Amino acid sequence: MQTIEVALKVPIDHFFDYRVPDGETVTPDDVGRRVRVPFGTKTKIGIIAGISENGDSPRDALRPIDAVLRDEPPLPPDWFSLCAFCADYYQAPLGEVMLSTLPVAFRRDAPPKARCAGKILPKAPASGAPPPELTREQREILEKIAENAPGFKAWLLHGVTGSGKTEIYLRLIERTLAEGRQALLLTPEINLTPQLENRIKERFPEAGFACLHSELGEPARARNFRAAASGDARVVVGTRLAVFTPLPELGLIVVDEEHDASFKQQDGVRYSARDLAVFRASERKIPIVLGSATPSLASWANATDAAKTSAPRRYALLSLRERAVKKARLPEVRCIDTRKEKLREGLSGALLAAIDKRLQNGEQSLIFLNRRGYAPVLVCAYCGWVSHCERCSANLVVHLADQRLRCHHCGGEQRIPKACPVCGNQDIQPFGRGTQRVEAALTEYFPEARILRIDRDSARSRKQWEAFVERITAGDADILVGTQMLAKGHDFPGLTLVGVLGADAALFSADWRAPERLFAQLMQVAGRAGRAEIPGEVLIQTQFPDHPLYAAITRHDYPSFADALLEERRQAGFPPYAYQAILRAEAPRMADALAFLAAAKENAESHKSLKSGDPREGAAENVFVYDPVPMRMARLANLERAQLLVESPSRRALRDFLRVWRIAVGAIKAPHRLRWHLEVDPQEV
Ligand code: ADP
Ligand code: ZN
Ligand code: ZN
Repeated sequence: MQTIEVALKVPIDHFFDYRVPDGETVTPDDVGRRVRVPFGTKTKIGIIAGISENGDSPRDALRPIDAVLRDEPPLPPDWFSLCAFCADYYQAPLGEVMLSTLPVAFRRDAPPKARCAGKILPKAPASGAPPPELTREQREILEKIAENAPGFKAWLLHGVTGSGKTEIYLRLIERTLAEGRQALLLTPEINLTPQLENRIKERFPEAGFACLHSELGEPARARNFRAAASGDARVVVGTRLAVFTPLPELGLIVVDEEHDASFKQQDGVRYSARDLAVFRASERKIPIVLGSATPSLASWANATDAAKTSAPRRYALLSLRERAVKKARLPEVRCIDTRKEKLREGLSGALLAAIDKRLQNGEQSLIFLNRRGYAPVLVCAYCGWVSHCERCSANLVVHLADQRLRCHHCGGEQRIPKACPVCGNQDIQPFGRGTQRVEAALTEYFPEARILRIDRDSARSRKQWEAFVERITAGDADILVGTQMLAKGHDFPGLTLVGVLGADAALFSADWRAPERLFAQLMQVAGRAGRAEIPGEVLIQTQFPDHPLYAAITRHDYPSFADALLEERRQAGFPPYAYQAILRAEAPRMADALAFLAAAKENAESHKSLKSGDPREGAAENVFVYDPVPMRMARLANLERAQLLVESPSRRALRDFLRVWRIAVGAIKAPHRLRWHLEVDPQEV
């Protein structure tokens, strides 16, 4: 009798055994194909993970499969090993990993529509413009990479914005295509894909191209996935999920803006697409290039730490020190000391003057403020009432444009009250400022100027975003007010001034990763200024003009800033010098969440009693378990949240421990409405 192992999307760690009914034969070729099976009272779509003849389970104990779905090519072995690594590393059930990475259509019973590859791969007109002649730096980098090819090598490409990283990606793709292989490019933001897509299509008009990101409709996603899996698409550009795309002839992976937090999946299977991409490249024995102007500290450590030189997955550092276009200089960055001056609606005289000058010259300015809405809170000065979300430990943000108070965490909203709900005082005031308020202030100062506000409220869809980009590029705007949405990767030739507001808060945040993020954001946003012929200027309004972070920004000096931060991390024993996982629990009552975590901790401590060198898995000598604590934002949408941090100087020790501990945690009796999850390498602690 044939027994087949089926991966199903259920939160259970093992595969499920089924038998093959009489009249049906399943061959080894079917491993990786979809299969329909009965499960409980329903049917489910799964993936065939293995076949054995004469399985030892008695025949009647196993249910028969319904049918093997042979309308798609089987998922390849390297896709299996990627999923297996992901499941093991991130402590997620393998079946869930496998099924959740497939387009929805592949998880449904109805077979996806027939292929129409020709249509889905529109050929772009060639731009006609020949590729630029490489700079010396670019040439040397490409030579280095070529010398190491073929085979696995992880390269960290550090280069300021505009230094020509994308040109390097394009040349590498060109080589890959010439070798008859496929290239995979991961980008953090769907907003960034259009520009990149266009550059790729222009450069390689003949190559099949497919993009994969969350704003694609499901049919398009299924088609593009299939085009990649069949080899019709030669270049695939996508966001984090695309790391799982089957690519039979994969020859190159590029991760652009590798430091970006959105490579980390924040729910379900909490993987890092960047780290999985490195694993995938090593398995496939191909080069991978991680590019950024401000690499993550983890990658920087991987590429620069002498202590790690012997580690097998260590990165090699490549640097682009100058902007690619000869005339384009890096913008001049200065701090405006706001302690010495009374600001007008948060704007300093120097910044207003600088904007005015740009208006005279017909150039564009960008005011960067990472807070949307009109004001972060509404306050009654008489009794001290503040607009607080009833469901979260957070304030309701004032959105004056549509007269709403909104919670940016749970999405709850209400009308702005006319009077204080506690004391009836009618003079309640918005406190602090967000993008809408800055926009309003600028409209007063510069009534003639065309002002565009760009944040998640004004640019909700990719279409709206593209319309904005078009307007800005066409010079149809004078002042842009925006959040980090605007900071990333975009090339606006008329933009010569960037003003930064409200950055100080991140300098002293309780989150020790905040400076790393702030630095990256400021470097990104500074990179928007002066990309073309006119040099740019960046003005940072701050009360701490002497802070080392700003000093490093003004010098455009990522390496020394990163080295200093890494030294602090090393001394404090923080990542990347420690490996962490976090167990989070949420429940209607905080006491329940904490009690659950306390039980989990107790269980962890019981592993600790194992002797050093104990052959049993889960020996936890090297693993430190902290106390359960409420999360910084303890309440979200009426649920109380708490967390338990575990840490180890050894990645391996942590993983061995987690394998065992997760099962034990799953066995803890928890109140009915409690939910928990485990996150490995959490970004926020
Ligand atoms: P990055 O990806 O590092 O921001 P890009 O590759 O987008 O940089 O290059 C920035 C600008 O410089 C682009 O307009 C690009 O066309 C141009 N560029 C890149 N390499 C060269 C080169 N070797 N010679 C001239 N221009 C170049
Ligand atoms: Zn009041
Ligand atoms: Zn809320």
